[in-house]
Amino acid sequence: MAYTDFLKQQCYIDGAWVDADSGATFEVTDPGSGAVLGTVPKMGADETARAIDAAEAALPAWRAKTAGERSKLMRKLFELMMQHQDDLGELLTREQGKPLAEGKGEIAYGASFIEWFAEEGKRAYGDTIPGHAPDRRIVVIKQGVGVVAAITPWNFPNAMITRKLGPALAAGCTIVIKPASATPYSALAIARLCEMAGIPKGVVNVVTGSAGQIGSALTSSPKVAKLTFTGSTEIGRDLLRECAETIKKCSMELGGNAPFLVFDDADVDAAIEGAMISKFRNGGQTCVCTNRFYVQDGVYDEFVTKLAARVNGMKVGYGMDEGTTVGPLIDEKAVEKVEEHLKNALDGGAKVLAGGQRNERGGSFFNPTVISGVTPDMQLAREETFGPLAGVIRFTDEAEAIRMANDTEFGLASYFYASDLSRVWRVAEALEAGMVGINTGLISTEVAPFGGVKQSGLGREGSHYGLDDYMEVKYLCMGIK
Ligand code: ADP
Repeated sequence: MAYTDFLKQQCYIDGAWVDADSGATFEVTDPGSGAVLGTVPKMGADETARAIDAAEAALPAWRAKTAGERSKLMRKLFELMMQHQDDLGELLTREQGKPLAEGKGEIAYGASFIEWFAEEGKRAYGDTIPGHAPDRRIVVIKQGVGVVAAITPWNFPNAMITRKLGPALAAGCTIVIKPASATPYSALAIARLCEMAGIPKGVVNVVTGSAGQIGSALTSSPKVAKLTFTGSTEIGRDLLRECAETIKKCSMELGGNAPFLVFDDADVDAAIEGAMISKFRNGGQTCVCTNRFYVQDGVYDEFVTKLAARVNGMKVGYGMDEGTTVGPLIDEKAVEKVEEHLKNALDGGAKVLAGGQRNERGGSFFNPTVISGVTPDMQLAREETFGPLAGVIRFTDEAEAIRMANDTEFGLASYFYASDLSRVWRVAEALEAGMVGINTGLISTEVAPFGGVKQSGLGREGSHYGLDDYMEVKYLCMGIK
C-alpha cells in the first residue's frame, strides 16, 4: 500500500464517505513543498448536526457492548495503525511537515493511546462504600458520558485525536471529530482505519470545514455531552464560554510556556540532550516545548556554548528527505511570530549564538536558533513562541528561578536539571505546572496523565485519569430490610 491509499478526500459520517452539502471543498497543502495534496469537504452546521445525530443513534448499541467487546475492536484499530505505520507516517509528514522519523514516531505514539485505553476500559472500576445507615448500601458505578465532540490541532494530527478517541471508545462514548484544517488527512485516515477495524457506523465521525460553524454546532448541541479540545488558550476560552449554555463537561489542553531550569549541580550534557528534544522536537511546535531556558551562573556559559554547537549541527529540510531533523513551520504566520520574538529579544540586547534567520530554502523554513542574554521581560519569555527559537536567561539563586518560572498564566509542562535530592523535591513541588520533567526533556507517554494547571487547561489525557474524564460517576443508594 501507499500513503495515497489513506488520503481520503471525503468526510466520514454515519459510516459513509460524504461531501459537503454545497459541494464546497478546500485545499490541503504540504508545508514543506508547497504542493497541493488534495482537497477535503468544507462542511458547516448542517453536516455537523447530522454527524451528531449519527453519534447519538450509535450510542445505545456501543454503550451496551461489554468493555471486552469494545476492547477487541480497539485492539484491531491499534494493530491496523501499526501495520500501516509507514504510510500513515508519510501522510502525516506530507500534510504537517515534521521529519518522517517523527511522523512515523507519532503514529506509534498515537496508536499507543488506542492500545492503552483498550485495556484500561476493562478496568473502569467503581466503588462500594460502607453505608451510612444500617439499612443502606452504597455502590458507585462509572458510565460513559455520551456523545463526545473533539476539536484538534495541526501539530500532532494523529496523536491529539487518538488520545481523545481512545478513552471515548473505551468508556462507551461515540464521537464527532473536527480536525485542524491544515491537517485533516491524518484524521480521515483514522476514520478509514476505524471502518477497517469494524467499529460500527456512527460511533466515529469526522467532519472537516469551517472551524467557527462546526465548532458552534458542536458546542451548542444539547446532544453533545462533552467537548474535548486541544489548541490555543484563546480559542479554548471561547469554546468554554459557548459550552456554558448546555453545561458540557470540558477537557481543555491549551497553551503552554514551559520553563526549563538548569541548576549548577546539573549534568550539563544530559541537560543539553533534554533541551534539544524538549525545544526542537516538531520544530518547536508542541505545547510542551520549552519556551524559556533559565540557567544558573555556574553553568551558564557551558550550557549556551554546547547548546549552540548542537543546534548548528541540525539539518533543516523537507520532512521526506533523509537526514532532516527540522522541517518547515506550519505556515508563514508561524514564521512571522518567531521573527517577532527574535527581533524583540535582539532589540533588547540578546545575542545570536546559532541560526537567527529564515532558511535559504524559503517557504516556512526557519533555522533553529539559540540566543543568550535574554531577560524575563522579553516577548519570548512571556508568550508561547511555537517555533525553533531557544532563548536563555541567566539566574543566580533557586528561589529567583522558581519565581521567574512561575511568573506566567500558563502551567502545562516544566523541566529542570539538578542532582541534589532535596533541591529536586523542592523545585518539583514549587513549579506551577501539570507536568514536571526532572532530568529528562521527554515526558509524553500514554501511561501518564498529560495536562495543565492555571490557564493551560482542564482535565488530563492518558493514564487512568484520562479515562475518568470520559466517564460520569453514578452513586446508587440501596435501601434494604
Ligand atoms: P493552533 O492553531 O495554535 O493549534 P487553535 O486554537 O487556533 O490553535 O486551533 C485549534 C483547533 O481549533 C483547530 O482545529 C481549529 O480549526 C479549531 N478552531 C479555531 N477556531 C475555532 C472556533 N472559533 N471554534 C471552534 N474551533 C476552532
